[in-house]
Amino acid sequence: MSGVAKKMQTFAESSSWIRKMFEEGARMKAEFGADKVFDFSIGNPDVPPPAKFSTVLRELVEQEEPGVHGYMANAGFPFVREAIATRLSAEQQVSFTANDLLMTCGAAGGLNVLFKALLDPGDEVMVFAPYFVEYRFYVDNHGGEVKVVATDADFNLDLKAIEAALSPKTKIVLINSPNNPTGQIYPAADLQALGRLLDEAGKRFGTTIYLVSDEPYRNIVFDNHVVPPLMTATTNAIIASSYSKELSLPGERIGYLAVHPQMADKGQVVGAMTLATRILGFVNAPALMQRAVARLQDVSADSSIYARRLEAFCTVLDGAGISYVRPKGAFYLFPQAPIDDDVEFCRLLAEQKILAVPGRGFGMPGYIRLAFCVDERVIAGSAEGFKRAMAAARK
Ligand code: PLP
Repeated sequence: MSGVAKKMQTFAESSSWIRKMFEEGARMKAEFGADKVFDFSIGNPDVPPPAKFSTVLRELVEQEEPGVHGYMANAGFPFVREAIATRLSAEQQVSFTANDLLMTCGAAGGLNVLFKALLDPGDEVMVFAPYFVEYRFYVDNHGGEVKVVATDADFNLDLKAIEAALSPKTKIVLINSPNNPTGQIYPAADLQALGRLLDEAGKRFGTTIYLVSDEPYRNIVFDNHVVPPLMTATTNAIIASSYSKELSLPGERIGYLAVHPQMADKGQVVGAMTLATRILGFVNAPALMQRAVARLQDVSADSSIYARRLEAFCTVLDGAGISYVRPKGAFYLFPQAPIDDDVEFCRLLAEQKILAVPGRGFGMPGYIRLAFCVDERVIAGSAEGFKRAMAAARK
């Protein structure tokens, strides 16, 4: 009998959709050859980092000084936070300093630090369906409860539903824009209205409700869409971001948390996050990567590659009669399955050697998620398979 914690066994079962598809993909690739399988299951950026990344890395390694690989302040090197603060100040239209930022091991590490710092047992974190499934585990790690609120037909925020779901237990409202899995970008007016709603509710309840934006996809946008600033919505705003997608460096585990410079309890929040970084065992974000990203604030991975893939995918889906809301950013499509049972539709797609993830893996059955971190030729090659799967679903 396994000694693995019961909760972990349950988690392993409930989080298994992406993993299942990944394993199925590996099996099919071994059986049929990698070029015969159309794997849209994994959101692992395949676009190379900007050329400047390797130049900067080489220079950093050449110019090493004693102690550069040592521990530093748990929040990260001050000069690195200062460099990011300068860029964020322009992007967010408020003035950041190094003291408002904390370097993290990716957005995932940052969210864990944040939840550790803010959540008391039973506090609620509001998320919006469909959502990045790992949120559930991160919130559970720190004794919180997830409160799921539906979005509208276009996957935009439903402010009435949010208002109705707020309670004295609400500690954090967590948005993700551009969104995984829908590609939606929340408009500025909605962010402003949401900020007002949370500030008013906090006053009414005598609590503080933090508006947290998980935004590692901020720089991957299509059709000239812009991701509006978060910090003008409320002073209780926090950004969790990373260079996983922006610089295509997900394996290097580097990101940051940015706290509103005028947040009333900013000192306590940043202090708690700094301590959380240490006691969660991260200690600090990787030193070499911190120094690298400080010098890469003016570049990002080439999102025009994702834009071309989006066009190719829309052509394939249109040709198969599959309906979807056109994503504004990130690198996912979240089309509606032609039958209620999204798992069954994924099975019909797998018969055509197409791998997708059922929407229920994101808290939204009846849809499928397609990641376009693959070559355009793979997307174009899947066209007939999508048509055949649709025909099979309609039988
Ligand atoms: N948040 C969302 C919405 C994601 O899709 C991901 C990764 O796919 C993460 C956070 C984690 O990103 P990171 O690699 O920066 O930890």
